[in-house]
Amino acid sequence: MSAIYRVQVTKPGEFATVMKPLVDPGPGQVRIRVEASGVCHSDAGTVEGSFPIIWPRVPGHEVVGRIDAIGSGVRGWEVGQRVGVGFLGGSCGYCEFCRNGDLVNCRNQEFTGVHSDGGYAEVMIAKATGLMRIPDDFSSAGAAPLLCAGLTTFSALRNAPAKAGELVAVLGIGGLGHLGVQYARHMGFEVAAIGRGTESAELAKKLGAHHYIDSAATDPAAALQALGGAKVIVVTASGGKTVTETFKGLRPGGVSIDLGAGPEPIEVTSMDLIFATRKVEGALTGTPAVGDATLRFSALSGVSAMIETVPLEQAAAAYAKMMAGKARFRMVLVTKNGADQSSPLK
Ligand SMILES: [Zn+2]
Ligand SMILES: [Zn+2]
Repeated sequence: MSAIYRVQVTKPGEFATVMKPLVDPGPGQVRIRVEASGVCHSDAGTVEGSFPIIWPRVPGHEVVGRIDAIGSGVRGWEVGQRVGVGFLGGSCGYCEFCRNGDLVNCRNQEFTGVHSDGGYAEVMIAKATGLMRIPDDFSSAGAAPLLCAGLTTFSALRNAPAKAGELVAVLGIGGLGHLGVQYARHMGFEVAAIGRGTESAELAKKLGAHHYIDSAATDPAAALQALGGAKVIVVTASGGKTVTETFKGLRPGGVSIDLGAGPEPIEVTSMDLIFATRKVEGALTGTPAVGDATLRFSALSGVSAMIETVPLEQAAAAYAKMMAGKARFRMVLVTKNGADQSSPLK
């Protein structure tokens, strides 16, 4: 195959499908035959142009496929190996943060589908330092959402100060939250899921939540305090208000971890921070090694994303469905490179 099919954004809000010549990977890069590519809400940063984009740009940062060519200087990866690419496009290895072991905050890291072309394509070029390993337990479509939605919630919970048996709240039962509830349960926490309305209550329990709090019917902070106060609240819904309305549900020493990016400010009083030494913090996805751990842990504990697969050719429709909040819960684009991918597990 000398030409490849890809879906690119040509200007804000406008998708176009084009054929492009196949190129070889450069130094430090691999070329991947894409089998599946998740549609993430952060793709809006590319599609709507709120990230600094040089057009045209191919979105997609939950990419699974097989390596079919390896550039010079790449070690540890083989042709034919099934790999994943997430939002962080690969660390540089030489900046201050890399040299301190903080790969997430690498100064020279590109974001997949933002600074470089992502996974809405039959083929993509990726930096080897950003690659993750895909266990055989998952289909490519099943693994894709774990590379951003999964990694983000898993990494936040894994780095959080809660110990087994302590109360952890997951706010929002959507693309991230439905995974967050499963991870929190399997990590051994007492889990409170917080949603708006009653329709997610049954699902939250099925995913492993011990408690469901309907924030439309009750004050979620008071409900958490009635359970003893949360050590950690993982906020997967965007909007500063969602952080604010649950913040006082933290027990002393607790932390609210914000994963839902948005421009709205978070209002907390210094009194609520100081008296009970609470914290608000953000977490940005995770390192490739934690990505490997996310997938291994998911396989070991039976955590999987609820997915709906659609052919790559229908990328624009899949994106629109996700943006309309109608995805249950992750849309995944699949190419002809992969086998049957209707199930998350192989
Ligand atoms: Zn994402
Ligand atoms: Zn670096």
